[in-house]
Amino acid sequence: MTQDYSLNQQLNHIEVSEIRQFDEAVSGIPGILKLTLGEPDFNTPEHVKQAAIDAIENNYSHYTGMAGDPELRQAVADFIHTKYQVDYRPTDEILVTVGATEALATAITTITNPGDALLLPAPIYPGYLPLLHLNQVTPIYIDTRATDFVLTPELIEATITAHPEANIKGIILNYPSNPTGVTYRDHEVQALAQVIKNHHLIAISDEIYSELTYGESHVSLAKYAFDQTILVNGLSKSHAMTGWRIGFLMAPSTLTTEMKKVHQYLVTAATTVAQRAAIEALTTGIDDGQAMKAEYLKRRDFMFAGLQELGFSVARPDGAFYLFAKIPAELQLNSRDFTKALAEENQLAIIPGTAFGDAGEGYVRLSYAASMATLEDAMARLTTFMINHRAA
Ligand code: PLP
Repeated sequence: MTQDYSLNQQLNHIEVSEIRQFDEAVSGIPGILKLTLGEPDFNTPEHVKQAAIDAIENNYSHYTGMAGDPELRQAVADFIHTKYQVDYRPTDEILVTVGATEALATAITTITNPGDALLLPAPIYPGYLPLLHLNQVTPIYIDTRATDFVLTPELIEATITAHPEANIKGIILNYPSNPTGVTYRDHEVQALAQVIKNHHLIAISDEIYSELTYGESHVSLAKYAFDQTILVNGLSKSHAMTGWRIGFLMAPSTLTTEMKKVHQYLVTAATTVAQRAAIEALTTGIDDGQAMKAEYLKRRDFMFAGLQELGFSVARPDGAFYLFAKIPAELQLNSRDFTKALAEENQLAIIPGTAFGDAGEGYVRLSYAASMATLEDAMARLTTFMINHRAA
């Protein structure tokens, strides 16, 4: 560029995520084994792929309506009704988005003005903060360390009280949680819904891991705070379809009407062929996730037990495919030093907890979206590392 342009100042606050940075930094280490990224290791089910092939052959090559293919919106409505007992009208309360990511961007842009604040329980998925920056929204973190990463109504109340000057518009919830795996039982969701209603907050509830709970079934926030909830979901995790980029945005029609304006000028509509595949995933394949979940459960149990044996304490790992483990104090290593040393000395890459904000210091995130053989190898490497460092 020959001239210095003054670009969007907000971009000065945005960095490549620490997850990606770390992943790239360790990729050059020979023999490195990675439990870094949050991607299902399964392939998209065959019948879903076939639906996309059929769609191409049948010339599904045109735009769909902005809100998405009507058949898909009906399938989403049926899915949310059947699985979570929440009713959204396919006609005007559901938008099909380009992954959960576009749903989040659209929701944040729609509900905020510059100078507003949003509450973010921390540690937190790093995809949200850059979207706040782009919209000039102030993040207010709710530190959940003291409650083992469980968000409570008391923590929300205390944070609101501590920020009397802030124009707090809403809260972003994510459960089952990336990075902690924590999720909420029915009475806990009810209690969170109540405090959200009491404070007239809008909750963007990112429930992208809703199909991956290992104890009780998932309970959507929309069940108890329908009018206040913008519900985000999608097929990336439930059907191993990250690359298809299909997400869902659901809310009362007053909000959806406004969100549709943002969505249509950001992306027009999600890819037509991927939407046809999504119909197959949510109808014939409505329970495709169950077999994957059974595998994740075995892996979780294996990793959870192994980590505890090595002296890590692990947050309530009831959902998603992550374990958030506390580094044993006697090692005297912070998150970054621990993960760097582990990658260099034993060729195992896991993510420093600080990638999820300051509240993640002292922790590491392991993804168990990997085969059992890979996980066994990973635990062997971690065991060697721990023995060496305890002896030192
Ligand atoms: N929300 C959370 C909590 C995630 O962990 C991820 C992906 O890792 C996303 C959203 C993004 O989902 P998508 O790939 O559908 O955009």
